[in-house]
Amino acid sequence: MTQFVRKLDHMGRIVIPAEYRKNTGIELCGEVRITENNGKIIIEKLTPECKICGTEENINTEMCICDACIAKIKAL
Ligand SMILES: [Zn+2]
Repeated sequence: MTQFVRKLDHMGRIVIPAEYRKNTGIELCGEVRITENNGKIIIEKLTPECKICGTEENINTEMCICDACIAKIKAL
């Protein structure tokens, strides 16, 4: 188990260290589930989904949408 100590900012935010994001596979566009359990806060990685169609396949992590939706948008 690894640990780190961070202060919350005035909005209650913390930064998850880059090393932790890399080790857990949390990606840009990735969502996390935050659960409180007996005074502990648990952050779990969720699979990134396309913000348009909801698929988990071929997500472009810069645009947060899938390649198929990008192709549809380009065809408009
Ligand atoms: Zn899509």
